[in-house]
Amino acid sequence: MVRIGAHVSSSKSIDLVFDRGIEIGAETVQFFLSSPRSWAWKERSDNEKELFQKKREKTGIYPVVVHSSYLFNLASADKNLREKSIKGVINELKMCEELKIDYYVIHAGKAKGQDEKEALKNIIESMKKVFSEVELINTTFLYETLAGQKGEIGKTTDELAVLMEPFSDKNIGICVDTCHIYSAGYKINEEEGFYRYKKELEEKIGLEKVKVIHCNDSKTPFNSRKDRHEHIGEGSIGYMGFELFLNDEYFKNLPFILETPKSGNWDIINIERLRNLIKSAPVAQ
Ligand SMILES: [Zn+2]
Repeated sequence: MVRIGAHVSSSKSIDLVFDRGIEIGAETVQFFLSSPRSWAWKERSDNEKELFQKKREKTGIYPVVVHSSYLFNLASADKNLREKSIKGVINELKMCEELKIDYYVIHAGKAKGQDEKEALKNIIESMKKVFSEVELINTTFLYETLAGQKGEIGKTTDELAVLMEPFSDKNIGICVDTCHIYSAGYKINEEEGFYRYKKELEEKIGLEKVKVIHCNDSKTPFNSRKDRHEHIGEGSIGYMGFELFLNDEYFKNLPFILETPKSGNWDIINIERLRNLIKSAPVAQ
C-alpha cells in the first residue's frame, strides 16, 4: 500500500500534527519544529513530547517527517549566517533524535552570487560540524532535490552526490520533490524522462538512499528553475508524472507527502487524486 500524506501545521503543540493528519486522511505527515521563518527556538515540555508519542502510536501515522527551517543557509558566504544555520540544524536534529523522527528534510543551501563550487564546499564543511555534534540513530538526514532558484544547491543529482559523498557512513539520504526536479529540468512526466531520472539516481546516489517523495505539481513551466507548488493535476506536470512515481516498483514503497497550497479541503482532494492514480495489482488467473 502506498502511504500518502501531507505537510501539516504543528502550531500550538506538536502532538496536534497527528490529529491534523487524521482529519485529512493522511498515513504519513511532515511538519516544522518551529516557525520556518523565525530564528526563535521553542522548547517543548515533557508533557507535549509524551503526548506526541502517544498519538503517534495510536494513529499509526508513519513515517513522521520534519522539514527544516527556511532560514538556514549552510552554503552562505556570510560566516555569521552559516554559524547560525549550523546551530539551528544541530538544535533541530537533536530534537528529531529525541522525538524519534524518521526523516529530517533540508534545503542544503543557496550560493547567492558565490561560486557554486565554493557553496558546495561550505555545505560540506557545515555538515561536518553538524555531524560532530549530533549522532543520528533514530533519524535519517535528507537533502531535498531543489529547483535551482536563486543559486540553490541540490538542483542536480551530481550536486547531491557531491554533498553526500563525505558522509556515506551516516544516516543520510535524499528527498525527491516532484515540482523541484521538473523545474530543474528533469522531465519526469514522460516515461522516457522518468526512467532516465530514476537511472541517474540509481547510478549516482543509489536508489536505496531515496527515502521520501514530496508530491507537488508545478505552477511554472518545465525547466523554469522556479519553486512554485500547485495542486495535483492542475500544474505543468499533470497526472502522468504522479502516476509514474506512485506505481513504480521502488518509489511506491516510499511516503508521498503533499506540500500543495493550503486552503479549504484541498489536502483531502489532493490525497484522493493521488490514490486514484494507483493501479491495483493484476489479479492472478
Ligand atoms: Zn522543502
